[in-house]
Amino acid sequence: MVTLAQIPLSRPDLSAMEVEEVLSVLRTPWLSMGPKIQEFEERFARHLGVGHAVAVANGTCGLHLAVRAIGVQPGAEVITTPFSFVATANVLLFERATPVFVDVDPQTLNLTPEAVQTVIDRWYVRRDGRMVHRTTEAPLLAILPVSVFGHPVEMEGFRALARTYGLRIVHDTCEAFGSVYWSGERKAWISEAVLADAAVFAFYPNKQLTTGEGGMVVTDDQAIATYCRMARNQGRRPGADWLAHDILGFNYRMDELSAALGVAQLRRAPELLARREQVARWYEEALAPIEEVERPRATPWARVAWFVYVIRVRSGVNRDAIIEHLATRGIAAKPYFPPIHLHDHFRALGYKPGDFPVTEAAASRTIALPFFNALTQGQVLEVARTVKEAIYRNVGA
Ligand SMILES: *Cc1c(COP(=O)(O)O)cnc(C)c1O
Repeated sequence: MVTLAQIPLSRPDLSAMEVEEVLSVLRTPWLSMGPKIQEFEERFARHLGVGHAVAVANGTCGLHLAVRAIGVQPGAEVITTPFSFVATANVLLFERATPVFVDVDPQTLNLTPEAVQTVIDRWYVRRDGRMVHRTTEAPLLAILPVSVFGHPVEMEGFRALARTYGLRIVHDTCEAFGSVYWSGERKAWISEAVLADAAVFAFYPNKQLTTGEGGMVVTDDQAIATYCRMARNQGRRPGADWLAHDILGFNYRMDELSAALGVAQLRRAPELLARREQVARWYEEALAPIEEVERPRATPWARVAWFVYVIRVRSGVNRDAIIEHLATRGIAAKPYFPPIHLHDHFRALGYKPGDFPVTEAAASRTIALPFFNALTQGQVLEVARTVKEAIYRNVGA
């Protein structure tokens, strides 16, 4: 039986301004490749303080372009996390590159520079000025960290590694629009995305900021920006003739309606992020008395941009029974994320349970609770009460 959730997992926050922006595009002849995309890109780059922003059809396309832009080729190895949305590693498979998974930090659930260093020391050597795998001689090319659930990664630590070993960094920040990180070098709170060679945002309806479908590659590197601009548009050089295709390209363009939605959402960014923060604080209070529930916490050098609200139940508590109980009460909840290496198409490459114990342990205990801007404090209390009820029903079960 399908029960319709009265409290869904997610819902976009759209105001009359978004409706107006989109309608205004419909009154023009430009539904693609018009002025809105340029406006959205310029505003986004300025908002972040980064040289270039290239809008694309979705976050996955953005990641695909970014990894190609830094030179990922068949056989190249890229260090990344098994605890993320599957798209992070899929884009490497598209290019016949090898994701080298490194287990995550048990608190932040992110890749750490220390763990990456350990893997580099163990498996790679420098030969002819580049890092290659000790046994296969495959080149190690890049690090692809992900700011999971909106918690920033230690980007300066990754940068130090990148400098030492000649690696590039693509940052999957699809879940972290608005996150900030304490930069030890700059002595300031900054978006850690600006420190990567390329960073990718996504604007699916459940993200902090939405364009329906959409994504953005940001970079300070002119060559990366130019590659992304050309490759998203069938390989055309900017300003070139319609049928001139200089490189292999895709159609990964964002349309004007999405860009208009993005312009309006970006204008509301402070309000959208503050509202998410408020809902997270309500959860924090409401769940605090439940001993079996671990709430998400930010490290002292991080300010989380709340994407989802993911709790972890203590081991021994039946997570799936809680999700089922919530469903019977009309509350949507989901296990977030199933580990990437345990999806069938990764198992077929030889990955198996037990490969990344921290990721697997976390993944078996997580529950994403309903999280969106229109959630009321009353609904948050109802969710918390229902979680508690489910736990006490299932104690010992
Ligand atoms: C949402 C997301 C993506 C992909 O975004 P789409 O726009 O859905 O393609 C990539 N990586 C992570 C971690 C995400 O959460």
